[in-house]
Amino acid sequence: MNPVPKIGRFAPSPTGDLHFGSLVSAVGSYLEAKSASGLWLLRIEDIDPPREVAGSAGRIINDLHRLGLNPDGPVLFQSSRIAAYQYAVDKLLEKGLAYPCACSRKDLPESGIYAGTCRNGIPPGKSPRSIRFCVDSGICTFNDNIQGIVSDLPENSAGDFVIRRADGLFAYQLAVVVDDHFQGVTQVVRGADLLDSTTRQICLQKALGYETPDYMHLPVVISGDGKKLSKRLRTDPVIRQEPAAAVKQALQFLGQNPPAGLSLNDLWQWALENWNSHQVPRVRFGLPNEDLSA
Ligand SMILES: [Zn+2]
Repeated sequence: MNPVPKIGRFAPSPTGDLHFGSLVSAVGSYLEAKSASGLWLLRIEDIDPPREVAGSAGRIINDLHRLGLNPDGPVLFQSSRIAAYQYAVDKLLEKGLAYPCACSRKDLPESGIYAGTCRNGIPPGKSPRSIRFCVDSGICTFNDNIQGIVSDLPENSAGDFVIRRADGLFAYQLAVVVDDHFQGVTQVVRGADLLDSTTRQICLQKALGYETPDYMHLPVVISGDGKKLSKRLRTDPVIRQEPAAAVKQALQFLGQNPPAGLSLNDLWQWALENWNSHQVPRVRFGLPNEDLSA
């Protein structure tokens, strides 16, 4: 019997061009899957039209191709998956694991953590706006392949969170979980800025009867004062860089040491043969070198 193939994915939102931070996630997820003879899928998370930048989905797909990152199979657009998200919300409502909420932003506490006001029914005189997921009480723990053991009390850190917004759009957390399951994803490799979302996603997976994939949260750039340094990097599109230089920089950021002077093809071949996730640092203070936009 063949072992289950590893399936990884890269899932950018079309809110701008591919930047260094998203390239790092693309390279890490690609190598983790492909170096194990697995599949690498591309999903465009276009379910929040007000935040999207026209044309950026196409530019992201083209840039990935130019950088030698070619997905296995067709690109999945979340905008084509609305019926599946509604089905999942209906299933949670039926099971009593979600409920309509009448609260508006001004009804929420400053912490943003929902107090469960509508859990047992909408207050008289109010009408439903959003749908919230009932977070279970208790600790949620998972073992991240880079960050180690992560424990969280979703009840305290998030509270019952929105899965369908008042404007009718589906929340990121729900769509990610439904699509990772739909695409058979076995490993989620992404930036550590999404680490906080993971326990909410695991709660949803359990409620929907899905398997939980393996997680690997890659470092984000941290400055000396502990803040994310990626502002310039987030806005500096890789589109302006020479492909082999951009990929090499991403590999170095991930703790890999490619030899100098390789062509793009040879660089990928080297990376597939030599990828070592144990060398990926947990956090990254600054960059290996600072010539990104040179
Ligand atoms: Zn409410």
